[in-house]
Amino acid sequence: MSLNLIMLGPPGAGKGTQAERFARTRGIPKISTGDILREAVHSHTPLGARAKAVMDRGELVSDDIMIGIVAERLNRPDARSGFVLDGFPRTVPQAVALDGIMAVRDPLIVVDIVVPQAELVRRLASRMICDDCGANGAPGEIVCRRCGGKLVQRTDDNEAVVLERLRVYNTSTKPLVDFYRARPTFRSVNGAQPAEVVASDLAAAIEAARNGGGSVSGGRR
Ligand code: AMP
Repeated sequence: MSLNLIMLGPPGAGKGTQAERFARTRGIPKISTGDILREAVHSHTPLGARAKAVMDRGELVSDDIMIGIVAERLNRPDARSGFVLDGFPRTVPQAVALDGIMAVRDPLIVVDIVVPQAELVRRLASRMICDDCGANGAPGEIVCRRCGGKLVQRTDDNEAVVLERLRVYNTSTKPLVDFYRARPTFRSVNGAQPAEVVASDLAAAIEAARNGGGSVSGGRR
């Protein structure tokens, strides 16, 4: 059975870090729509040119564009035995489209990473990513551990844009928790803990969801 995982949660919840770690340990691709868009901006493609201004305002790129990107990516051979989606879906129409794409595949496992808003603002203000490869930096670091590139603040991590992204999350993305909550494969995990603890809670929650029900601490709510 393939492991088809989506991570929900506000900006700064740690979805990217956890998705990366989980995908690496399971040998499945991490598919981050934010990374795909940043890569397009970096390489000056037509998609990048359209997405940049929207991203810099903290708004969402249109559902049509995002659904097209993800449909194409999930059809590639490496995603056939599973994937971790980070940053998609972000709206109910995206979630409905994803259900359509997944209709002939194994069920989605949905994990919501929960972190209080004050903690998110604090984390986003100090977050650094690599200007070359997009990897997350750890607090206090100035060069990328993965490729030696320079760590910079994301252009959408300044205070005004962070507040807009959190507002957009609350209005457009948070409703997805209700969209998925009743499914037997839905779990939530406390993201306001050290990354290693979140990672082990996440792994336990995913195992429980795959086994179709058993409860774990911080499990189904
Ligand atoms: P992220 O790295 O997931 O925080 O995404 C950065 C930005 O990319 C978001 O603030 C949006 O502008 C855009 N973006 C990423 N994923 C999506 C999506 N699924 N739908 C719409 N916009 C997205």
